[in-house]
Amino acid sequence: MSARILVVDDVPSNVKLLEARLAAEYYEVRTAQSGPAALDLAPVWAPDLILLDVMMPGMDGFEVCARLKADRATEHIPIVMVTALGESCERVRGLEAGADDFLTKPVDDETLFARVRSLVRLKRLLDEWRLRAETTSQLGVNLSQEEAAPSVRGTRAVGLVVDTLEWQRVAAALAAEGIAADRVANGVEAMALLATLRCDLVLLDLRLASEDPLRLASRLRTEEATRDTPVLLLAEPNHRQLLFRGFDLGANDYILRPLDANELRVRARNQIRRKLYQDRLRADLAYSISLAVTDPLTGLHNQRYLRGHLKSLLSSLQTGGGVLAAMMLDLDHFKSINDRYGHAAGDAALQAVASAIRKQVRLVDTVARYGGEEFAVVMPGATAADAAVAAERLRREIAGLRFQPHPGVIHPLTISIGVAAIGADAAQDGEAAAEALLRRADEALYQAKRQGRNQVVVAQNEG
Ligand code: GH3
Ligand code: MG
Ligand code: MG
Repeated sequence: MSARILVVDDVPSNVKLLEARLAAEYYEVRTAQSGPAALDLAPVWAPDLILLDVMMPGMDGFEVCARLKADRATEHIPIVMVTALGESCERVRGLEAGADDFLTKPVDDETLFARVRSLVRLKRLLDEWRLRAETTSQLGVNLSQEEAAPSVRGTRAVGLVVDTLEWQRVAAALAAEGIAADRVANGVEAMALLATLRCDLVLLDLRLASEDPLRLASRLRTEEATRDTPVLLLAEPNHRQLLFRGFDLGANDYILRPLDANELRVRARNQIRRKLYQDRLRADLAYSISLAVTDPLTGLHNQRYLRGHLKSLLSSLQTGGGVLAAMMLDLDHFKSINDRYGHAAGDAALQAVASAIRKQVRLVDTVARYGGEEFAVVMPGATAADAAVAAERLRREIAGLRFQPHPGVIHPLTISIGVAAIGADAAQDGEAAAEALLRRADEALYQAKRQGRNQVVVAQNEG
């Protein structure tokens, strides 16, 4: 799908010109000739980028920008302000209003397309994150609904800036926003620092002579730890070609010398805000995924996770010819705890048992809460005999827990355990083998219950 660009300008000839140039590059273009018209169109058409004229009668570009950025429906759309004035105070005003970049009239094609490409790419990436977060929230997971723009106070920038005096001014400008800044001497130092320290912005001086600053910019994009860290280029007016290449390599923004401290401060802030927004989307997503595989009461994996994991373990075992065992554990007469001491006491008992199991098993073992008061453990590399020993140790451990449903009251907890190891199952595919193994462990568990509870039964290998 080609990117959609909304061009906002009150002068019809300006609109026509930009429209023609963008359409020639296969962008889908719509136009608005006033601020209010743009505010109407943006939320319904959902453009990937807005080119916004600053000087318009009635509502000027600054106000349009501020309104678009204040609306949840349009806040994520990048805005490039187009201005006849090259004044730094104008730029700062626009950046304060939330603009992502500036183009000065007359706009040359190269600059225009370089900025459009890089901003659209970033927007697409963020769209993908938002979509995934929304999908998982539709699965019934509630994500953080923080409305406020995240604060950049307490964030950290790393700077590769050649000149010491200039660096001091840069660091002071960042400090005014509460951004701590570390200076590094070269790319190797930068990568080393970034590998170990959380960093929210990289400042890269294009005057760097000891190495190619753009190579570093592209390296930052390929490394896992820095893939989403914004890169702000410090450039000379004659660095145009370097800037274009920098954007194509994934740099996010630039500032031209002579440096204006306010402009630097606001550009840095906007970049860090965007990163924090992206971090939040990612954290929401990771959290929702972890919720989908975790039991909230005990923090153990849930049955869904265990089955999936067991299936993949068994699939890989078939080629490796290894062994694996599973245990099913069920609390004995658990209902009586709920009945006598209440549901909260029952929950506490489940938590106590869950943590006892987790402490006993090896790191490679997977423990899950399989159902209400039923747990399962998958033990890669364990034979039936190994698992029987582990199960007996676990049974004794739990029988020895002095569970207190109320202060001063001790209620004995015991579990019955069924153990099974792969045998004939191994010949089946992963899914069928997982089913068969769990079913045999479950049958062994019920035999343990029938035989009087608080004991371990090992399933006989079939076939
Ligand atoms: P058995 O020895 O045969 O396993 O007897 P039992 O009482 O342990 O088994 P039963 O299946 O009859 O009862 C299980 C009880 O576990 C019933 C259910 O209310 C309770 N239960 C299930 N999930 C939870 C939970 O999350 N919290 C609490 N407190 N109780 C739960
Ligand atoms: Mg039970
Ligand atoms: Mg039960």
